[in-house]
Amino acid sequence: MNPTAEPSAIVPVFDGHNDTLLHLASNKAKPAEMVFGAGDGAGHIDLPRARAGGFAGGFFAMFPPPLTSTDMDEEMKGTSYDLPLPPLLPLEKAQASTIAMLSIMLRLERAFPDDVAICRSAVEIRVAMAAGKIAAVLHIEGAEAVDADFANLDVLFAAGLRSIGPVWSRPNIFAHGVPFRFPASPDTGPGLTEIGRELVKECNTRGIMIDLSHLNEKGFWDVAGLSTAPLVATHSNVHALCQSTRNLTDRQLDAIRESRGVVGLNFATCFLRPDGAMRADTDLDVMVRHLDYLVERLGEDGVAFGSDFDGAVIPATIGSVAGLPHLIERMRAAGYSEALLHKIGHENWLSLLERTQGQA
Ligand SMILES: [Zn+2]
Repeated sequence: MNPTAEPSAIVPVFDGHNDTLLHLASNKAKPAEMVFGAGDGAGHIDLPRARAGGFAGGFFAMFPPPLTSTDMDEEMKGTSYDLPLPPLLPLEKAQASTIAMLSIMLRLERAFPDDVAICRSAVEIRVAMAAGKIAAVLHIEGAEAVDADFANLDVLFAAGLRSIGPVWSRPNIFAHGVPFRFPASPDTGPGLTEIGRELVKECNTRGIMIDLSHLNEKGFWDVAGLSTAPLVATHSNVHALCQSTRNLTDRQLDAIRESRGVVGLNFATCFLRPDGAMRADTDLDVMVRHLDYLVERLGEDGVAFGSDFDGAVIPATIGSVAGLPHLIERMRAAGYSEALLHKIGHENWLSLLERTQGQA
């Protein structure tokens, strides 16, 4: 955490987005504690590889999976695609999977008290990081488990929830998720519903971060017009460099800067490559190009990581959380200072949470 550290030192990474709870929940053969504690040879994040890569923690998504199972990685291998939006997910189904993933996070904290801590504020993250623990902030990717009266929001908040993406890439009662489409504009449909507008206020009141990553462009501007908090996209990239619907236009980036918000660089190759393809043989230079653009557009305080570990095909050179130092090295080689590496590595997410929760 020392900006004047040796250039070869590992930079602790607090990351904007992973789907590790989904990965652990999907392995019905082994308990989550076993898979996380020892690794299962699959997935991107487990304790030994987190240690090896300097992973200091991040936003852990609780993601209610779609009922239909399209192999998205397969569909997005090409250089042009337009995936249909999955249908609405009923409240009960979403609640069941959200609670199952929340339970996994609580069990990991109980099984590894010296290694994992669920954190509710930037202060708690700093304390956990200083103690060498992985600081986990609970996030919902698609708020289908939240009812229209927000009763579940209170319960989830009490359990530690501090970040909400109102939608994943599908419609729900709050808004319309952006479909996975390439090449295409993020302006794909209507914005927030009335209840969605209420959700923004409810999140602001509680200091819950609102993640714009899977919203379409109208939804983005609706939140921008309503929210009193900085604008955040936890795992999205630059539309000018990769014309995916999931990426941010220059106007959106300018609004994020204006609000003193943050964008987390998504490692998914389909949101990085100029041809939009999901391919592991992608050079890390393209990640540096997006980072350069984001730093230029957002300033040094507005850029962080949002890996999408356990949720996407990432460059093979990184491979898993253990490969984070390869990205850091490439950034160093491109001229990133140690101070900026520490900001992008973790400090910018912590400061953003302080601004969001009213501690700054
Ligand atoms: Zn996502």
